Amino acid sequence: MRLWIKDPLALFGPGAERGLVVEGTRIVELVGRGRMPALPVDETFDASRHVVLPGLVNTHHHFYQTLVRAHPAGLKADLVPWLVALYPIWARIRPDQLRLAVRMALVELLLSGCTTAADHHNLFPPGLENAIDIEVEEARALRMRMTVTRGAMSFSVKDGGLPPDNVVQDDETVLRDSERVLKLFHDPQPGSLIRIAFAPCSPFAVSKSLMIDLARLAQSCDCRLHTHLCQVEDEERFCVEAHGMRPVDFLEETGWLNKRVWLAHAVHFNSEDVARLGRAGVGICHCAASDMVLAAGICPTKEFEAAGAPVGLGVDGSSSNDSSNMMEAVRHSLMIGRLRYGASGVTHRDVLRWATEGSARCLGRDDIGRIAVGLEADLALFTLDEPRFSGAQDPLAALVLCGAHRADRVMVAGEWRVIDGAPVDIDLEALMAHHREAARAFA
Ligand SMILES: [Zn+2]
Repeated sequence: MRLWIKDPLALFGPGAERGLVVEGTRIVELVGRGRMPALPVDETFDASRHVVLPGLVNTHHHFYQTLVRAHPAGLKADLVPWLVALYPIWARIRPDQLRLAVRMALVELLLSGCTTAADHHNLFPPGLENAIDIEVEEARALRMRMTVTRGAMSFSVKDGGLPPDNVVQDDETVLRDSERVLKLFHDPQPGSLIRIAFAPCSPFAVSKSLMIDLARLAQSCDCRLHTHLCQVEDEERFCVEAHGMRPVDFLEETGWLNKRVWLAHAVHFNSEDVARLGRAGVGICHCAASDMVLAAGICPTKEFEAAGAPVGLGVDGSSSNDSSNMMEAVRHSLMIGRLRYGASGVTHRDVLRWATEGSARCLGRDDIGRIAVGLEADLALFTLDEPRFSGAQDPLAALVLCGAHRADRVMVAGEWRVIDGAPVDIDLEALMAHHREAARAFA
């Protein structure tokens, strides 16, 4: 079936003024100004009211936290006291509650135009050993793309760490399960829907030997590595105390200073660190909302890009955002970027590029993130029909500056997954009712 998405109001990408043709899961043709599709099409979608973006790619989240948004225990805290307050609450989560949290987060992301999401799951209390399996099942049911990162924490309160004793696992268990989920679910082929990555919560939340073992395993199986690093200034001290060296040195020592790695936050690195990370091609996930909510600071995105690092965007967990809206993340990144670099330093095109192609590069994917022939047909279509857009002149800039929040249509792998602003095959009211009910257990 060949579908022509015809005559968009605007499109983020070159050479498709009259739209694009989708066949199967892929984009097979860009239709330039004054042109018609080269071959007959079976169906035409009139996109004359739509601004068309490549599907947005979220590179950092903690889906389970949708159950504890705006929690009274964390309303006024910096990162460490916030973690200390919330860990015991998160530690109570059960598989049925996680399933609803994952479904809610994925649907919320999808409605905001997100087609690929990475989730960093690092809580494995007794009973929740199959958390990664649940995430994969939910992503498959929604037919969204995901990089599910198998998280890990080894150091708990009894070792002087922050998390409660019951959510951490020993190194052997982490390694064994990382291999298990990789074998079961990781699909490295172009166009794949599910990929697995390994993701210790932070380099000072696990042992040095686990970092090394995970890096080796990732190399041998060709999967990616992810962790939080340097959201707040104290993390450098934690790393020195735990491992006797600064964070970038520790990455190098453990086999984590390379293109296989993407880091969440990366706020507090000096210029020498930025240059080293950039030279190594380490991806940077900019989590603007979370960094603002937790008063962490501003990620030096432009310096990272100039140094050669891929820069992508993440909404981060719903306890520190507290929203899973990728278009909101795009807008936040523009605003915080301007605060740091001035009004001409970051444009709407920069932040849209970070949310699409940049994020895809962080996840090691060159088959998504752009509207180009041969790439997967992952698309987000927005109308400008709401009051907030009335009077807008530049349609693409309007999406970011006026604050687009909800896509009208979303396509993943050539299939419409959002139609008329509603998720396909999902009873949103019922999902919200069940999710609200599940969240009561965490009050
Ligand atoms: Zn995070």
